[in-house]
Amino acid sequence: MLVVLMGPPGAGKGTQAEKLAAEFALPHISTGDIFRSAVKEGTGMGKKAKEYMDKGELVPDEIVIGIVKERLAKSDCSDGALLDGFPRTVEQAQALDEVLGDLKLNISAAVSVDVQEEELINRLTGRRVCRSCGATYHIKFNPPKVRNICDHCSGELYQRSDDTIDTVKERLAIYRNQTMPIIEYYEQKNLFHSVDGARAIDDVFVDIAAHLRSIRG
Ligand code: ADP
Ligand code: ADP
Ligand code: ZN
Repeated sequence: MLVVLMGPPGAGKGTQAEKLAAEFALPHISTGDIFRSAVKEGTGMGKKAKEYMDKGELVPDEIVIGIVKERLAKSDCSDGALLDGFPRTVEQAQALDEVLGDLKLNISAAVSVDVQEEELINRLTGRRVCRSCGATYHIKFNPPKVRNICDHCSGELYQRSDDTIDTVKERLAIYRNQTMPIIEYYEQKNLFHSVDGARAIDDVFVDIAAHLRSIRG
């Protein structure tokens, strides 16, 4: 089963992907996480990506597509994967179809987590991420058991440099202009399914899991 998880920044894609990956035994592929690791390691690709990420802009399609293509070709994806934050442009969606054709895989569903902008701003500005394992928390809505310490690995939590109010506003505008057109792309293929993301984390999860079970049969 290959699932595309969509939605604006802060909707809860990463949070849901973590839970869905465990439930359905699928590899969780987050392009944002891949870029943040590359930035941390200081690779050439990381340096390039950082220029865009810091401004809240999208990393150019050719870079992102190459990375996803390489990742999907690995053996752990032979039965599918959970794509979190990719595709984010129609060009990326088209490129994904080509890559999957070569790999003899099909998209099972494109699930969008929907949340209003005001709530997205609250979620993003309170987000904290584990420096070691990447797990996501929220200072109010999903706090760790011990302040600033990851429940899973005891790593230190930090605030992403792009989770500031100005960058968040830019990212939301880019979502509207560049990413929303892929909704129609997947609607036309009868793959699109949206869930109300403005509910408790576990309620959203139950909804998405039910949909995935229904299409898996
Ligand atoms: P995305 O990957 O879509 O950008 P995240 O999963 O990182 O979103 O979630 C953004 C922030 O909102 C995080 O701080 C997370 O803990 C919090 N969050 C996620 N889902 C919910 C929810 N259903 N209710 C409240 N807060 C949530
Ligand atoms: P969020 O879900 O909060 O928007 P991500 O962690 O998914 O954040 O992405 C962080 C940043 O990484 C984006 O703002 C963008 O610069 C870059 N990025 C991630 N995925 C893509 C993609 N598919 N295409 C272009 N840029 C991307
Ligand atoms: Zn951790």
